[in-house]
Amino acid sequence: ATPTAVMVGTGVGASQGVLIKGGQALESTHKVNCIIFDKTGTLTVGKPVVVNTRLLKNMVLKEFFELVAAAEVNSEHPLAKAIVEHAKKFRQEEEGSVWPEALNFESITGHGVKAVVRNKEVLVGNKSLMVDHDISISLDAEDVLAETESLAQTGILVSIDRELVGILAISDPLKPGAREVISFLKSMRVNSIVVTGDNWGTANAIAKEIGIDTVIAEAKPEHKAEKVKELQAAGNIVAMVGDGINDSPALVAADVGLAIGAGTDIAVEAADIVLMKSNLEDVITAIDLSRKTFTRIR
Ligand code: ADP
Ligand code: MG
Repeated sequence: ATPTAVMVGTGVGASQGVLIKGGQALESTHKVNCIIFDKTGTLTVGKPVVVNTRLLKNMVLKEFFELVAAAEVNSEHPLAKAIVEHAKKFRQEEEGSVWPEALNFESITGHGVKAVVRNKEVLVGNKSLMVDHDISISLDAEDVLAETESLAQTGILVSIDRELVGILAISDPLKPGAREVISFLKSMRVNSIVVTGDNWGTANAIAKEIGIDTVIAEAKPEHKAEKVKELQAAGNIVAMVGDGINDSPALVAADVGLAIGAGTDIAVEAADIVLMKSNLEDVITAIDLSRKTFTRIR
């Protein structure tokens, strides 16, 4: 393609909300045969909400949510925001959003949070957070978790003073059109993979709903980048689509990194292409533009 064609291609992209940072990115995109999608905020809307609470102990819900919110209000995680939002429903208006004091707050990346509230040790997070703290998970609790995950929801466990007391079911709906985008990519001979820090049950349920066969769950940020490199070593041209800080290493490692516009600044900076409208259809817009610019038959 001529420099003019590349300029036109990037210009058309920009006018459609697909920001392409340079000719190399535009050129590589049509060669992609494999796309890794992050789950939360990329395939899903990224605005999780608590849809169910199961108490495993006899406890007043208001008290339960005060302890949980006091710990989670210190976390930036979207799940934490969903939990705090939900906890407000159990308070009187005049109580506002001032929560009990949390001491020794600790955020454990990819697992959850820990704090001391009203002299009690509160843990909120996934199963491995509980396992790492030697908190036993009853068969009942396992059942609740399995059911939650089969509904494509994330189960968050709460322990107070080393005893499992409740499970929150959190739902983050798929973006509209996600299924169609994946099946259209398939027809273009592009293989889709989902990678997430969330658990296997939820990840598998989401992947099934959307028509993706390959799933990598419980992935740390470095795992995401490793997966990119592994696919490249096998001869694939790999794109990564993500929105989070934890996607940045993979966005950089990929042949083409695509960031969701509504994502974190760090992801947007790490990417070669920014999808300003934050929708998944624009992954196809980008491939189309690249094809039109670089594979024109003359
Ligand atoms: P993702 O790749 O889906 O954005 P993360 O690596 O951020 O996932 O988190 C992985 C898992 O760790 C979450 O699905 C959740 O179970 C747990 N987790 C992380 N942070 C928190 C938190 N603040 N509160 C509760 N659970 C959390
Ligand atoms: Mg994400």
